[in-house]
Amino acid sequence: MYFFVEMGCASSKIVPDSPVDRHVDWVKTVETGPNVRRNNYYNNTYHRNNNDHVGTKKKSMGKYKAKFDPRVLAKYDIKALIGRGSFSRVVRVEHRLTKQPYAIKMIEVREGKEVFETELGVLRRVRHPNIVQLVEVFETPERVYMVMELATGGELFDRIVAKGSFTERDATRVLHMVLEGVRYLHALGITHRDLKPENLLYYHPGNDSKILITDFGLASTRKAGDEMTMKTACGTPEYIAPEILQRKPYTNSVDLWALGVITFILLSGTMPFDDENRTRLYRKILRARFSFDNECWKDVSNLAKDFIFKLLTVNPQERMNASQSIKHPWLATNAGTSSLKNLHRSISQNLLKRASSRSRSMKSTRSTKSNRSNKSIVSLRSQHKRVQPEELDELARSGTLYRDGDDDDL
Ligand code: ADP
Ligand code: MG
Repeated sequence: MYFFVEMGCASSKIVPDSPVDRHVDWVKTVETGPNVRRNNYYNNTYHRNNNDHVGTKKKSMGKYKAKFDPRVLAKYDIKALIGRGSFSRVVRVEHRLTKQPYAIKMIEVREGKEVFETELGVLRRVRHPNIVQLVEVFETPERVYMVMELATGGELFDRIVAKGSFTERDATRVLHMVLEGVRYLHALGITHRDLKPENLLYYHPGNDSKILITDFGLASTRKAGDEMTMKTACGTPEYIAPEILQRKPYTNSVDLWALGVITFILLSGTMPFDDENRTRLYRKILRARFSFDNECWKDVSNLAKDFIFKLLTVNPQERMNASQSIKHPWLATNAGTSSLKNLHRSISQNLLKRASSRSRSMKSTRSTKSNRSNKSIVSLRSQHKRVQPEELDELARSGTLYRDGDDDDL
């Protein structure tokens, strides 16, 4: 028995609870460890999202303020644009009375109705230390403004490079937090469907910051029943699970596949499935064709590799679920943590290599020497396009995805 109706990628028919009224006491928790680059949160340089160019800040903030409802402006002072998605803009704001900082995600109703309904449906139900907390919502006929707790530590991907070192211990710490959040979501019948390093934010810039799962615009919700399956093809190509590509009904196990991809990136700085050509990329995913041949895997523990194998398993029934992943010895016993290898070099170089091969065709306003690693991340992020169901249907019809033979023929 199915309890929900799917509407494109955005599917949520859950009746929302009333918004949570909570002030986030972030100031007390912000601290900066010795390895962390000092980022001045107030000068708007930490969040390096697609449109967060300091030089254009004044102009763009004027433009965005004009889009804010007077009720929102009466309560919050708009400070800076910190993120930009297909239908949304995320700004940092300050509560005029309490001076608390928050993030407001503004969505154009005309373009992103399904997305915001889905996202609100989820955010109004959840309360977990590893999931971004909704504070309040303002709705107008044109726009929706979601006031959320502000994550000031940047995206996961930025942190890998910014930290300057990255060990199995760091990876297991991150994964543990993300998996706790995912286990909670799955227990509520929520599948995120777009887990990737851009949607995992650090709460504060300190070494010991927790991680927050964000961006529930593609999430799917059901009320009960473990057998619930979904059909909509959605997600981000590099992170998409094979069963979605096969256009089979799928379960929340797709989130675990994405976590397998994220784990691979965390430990190597490379993507497990990577190809400029979408069809070839999908063929690699369908066959789980990834390898640990790269030099950077030499010192990675077998337990870590076993963890990845058990997530990047084509058959979703054989793939670990969230609880099993948390109990896997690599996470449960920190067995891989004896490896103190500093992975920073390999990660940065890998990202830069990817960046340089792509930057030729990419316009970047941040290509100076001093911010080369930023550019590599921006470049990596820029290719994360959404999966197009029509494209998948066409590929499935033509049989291209399943044909045996040399992938280079494509
Ligand atoms: P989209 O659905 O458009 O991808 P997201 O919710 O992922 O929107 O937000 C886009 C970006 O904005 C994120 O990748 C992140 O960098 C930033 N962002 C989103 N929410 C927050 C938040 N609560 N605190 C800080 N930054 C945020
Ligand atoms: Mg996002």
